[in-house]
Amino acid sequence: MKLTLLGTGLPMPNPHRKGPSQAITIGDETILVDCGPGAVHRLVEMGVKPSQINRVFLTHQHADHYLDLDYFILIRWLSGVDAPLELYGPPGIRRMVETLMEAHAFDYAERIRSTGTERGVPTFLFKEYDPGPICEINGTRVTAFNVDHLPDNLSFGFRFDDKNTSLVLSGDTAPCENVIRHAHKVDLLVHECVDARKSNLAKSSLWKSPEDRIAHMSRIHTFPEALGEVAREADPKKLVTTHMVPATVPAELKGQIEQNFKGPVVIGEDLLDFTLGE
Ligand SMILES: [Zn+2]
Ligand SMILES: [Zn+2]
Repeated sequence: MKLTLLGTGLPMPNPHRKGPSQAITIGDETILVDCGPGAVHRLVEMGVKPSQINRVFLTHQHADHYLDLDYFILIRWLSGVDAPLELYGPPGIRRMVETLMEAHAFDYAERIRSTGTERGVPTFLFKEYDPGPICEINGTRVTAFNVDHLPDNLSFGFRFDDKNTSLVLSGDTAPCENVIRHAHKVDLLVHECVDARKSNLAKSSLWKSPEDRIAHMSRIHTFPEALGEVAREADPKKLVTTHMVPATVPAELKGQIEQNFKGPVVIGEDLLDFTLGE
């Protein structure tokens, strides 16, 4: 099993950290987990074409995790793939993707009409999952579990287990008992880390005050010191951070996490990859 971080950023544009997305290669199949803005470009940089991907998993329905999905679907289709795309997501994903496709209906119809092709528009196999095992890929079990984020009960992390190795992706979450439980002694824990204190949105009109915003963010995301506590409890063999604000200073972030966690910490970077089981 190989994990590649495609995007380690969040909604704010950052040339160095694209939107949240991971590629996981299991045997001869590569899947996408989340498809944030920039994911398709990063995937190609990684050396994988959208046409080689037949399954996409979404952790939750926040746009920073799916803004490249319609782009991915278009490129896969333009590359000649007619096989349905398997889309795993929380309940509601079907409606969201059908709405995206409706938004692009004119473009697809024109492309089909102008080329005189017999092809139809892209098709999907929707797999709206609940917590628990959701599928198996080349002998690797994929399990979804609830995390503490918004919307309640519709935000998930994933665990991947093959014969010898285990990988957990936290998805977006505040410090969460369920993550600690599912990530207990895993080989690799990829955990979000949003230090809202360092972002430049403190004066955004969405919140009454900067303090209000930071309090809100701490209820749905994980600050570095708190991530250290989560990791100390979960005790993974390695911790990797993702979903980081543009102002992140890797050495500083690592130090904050290491205040509470003494195991190996890697500050995630786009296109960094990790091979498990070798
Ligand atoms: Zn989110
Ligand atoms: Zn997010």
